[in-house]
Amino acid sequence: MDFDTPLFDTALAEAWVRAIAAAVEKEQARLTELDSAIGDGDHGSNLHRGFSAVLAALDDLRPAGSGTVLTKTGSTLISKVGGASGPLYGKAFRAIGAALPDPAGPADVAEALAAGLDAVRALGKAAPGDKTIVDAYTPAVAAFRATAAAGAALPEAAAAAADAAEQGARDTVPLQARKGRASYLGERSIGHQDPGATSTALLFRALADVAAG
Ligand code: ADP
Ligand code: MG
Repeated sequence: MDFDTPLFDTALAEAWVRAIAAAVEKEQARLTELDSAIGDGDHGSNLHRGFSAVLAALDDLRPAGSGTVLTKTGSTLISKVGGASGPLYGKAFRAIGAALPDPAGPADVAEALAAGLDAVRALGKAAPGDKTIVDAYTPAVAAFRATAAAGAALPEAAAAAADAAEQGARDTVPLQARKGRASYLGERSIGHQDPGATSTALLFRALADVAAG
């Protein structure tokens, strides 16, 4: 193993989850505003409630492996968030945690993130283009995988994934929602950025930030 290459370990897993909680707190109003346009206006508060509970759970967890940090994050989101996003992100984090060796290199992290996307798709049955979490998560995994396969280190792969997730979130604007609450609006869902795709981009940007050190 190349010891100069930064690895995804327990400390980084915890830093990632804490960075997501901070980003959700900062962007709560924006997420709620987006969800007010095409949903019921609770996406920011749902995630804020969920990640506040995750922070409290993390304090009871030390020392634990990165897998445990992430599976616990997932279970906490499932139990604390009533909206669609709670079970979807909850299942994703549980799958990521279950798939992740500790420590993990970039290719391991790519596969663990892909397992998270599979879990979201298995539960929510959304395809790319349905204007959901999947529209940010799918390009993020593709970018992470491709960058890692080209031999990039974790910070570079995570940055490419974050850029792709942000682009994927922006690309939801012209889409008509076909899953979730926004789908009830039909064509009126067109012209708005999807709240869940937006929070997925926050999640990948948080990973890029902590991986950059
Ligand atoms: P709720 O819709 O129950 O109020 P939230 O407001 O927390 O839950 O989350 C809404 C977001 O959940 C949407 O913007 C969308 O991205 C995501 N979402 C909804 N249904 C699905 C699904 N079936 N698959 C993937 N993501 C979904
Ligand atoms: Mg909502």
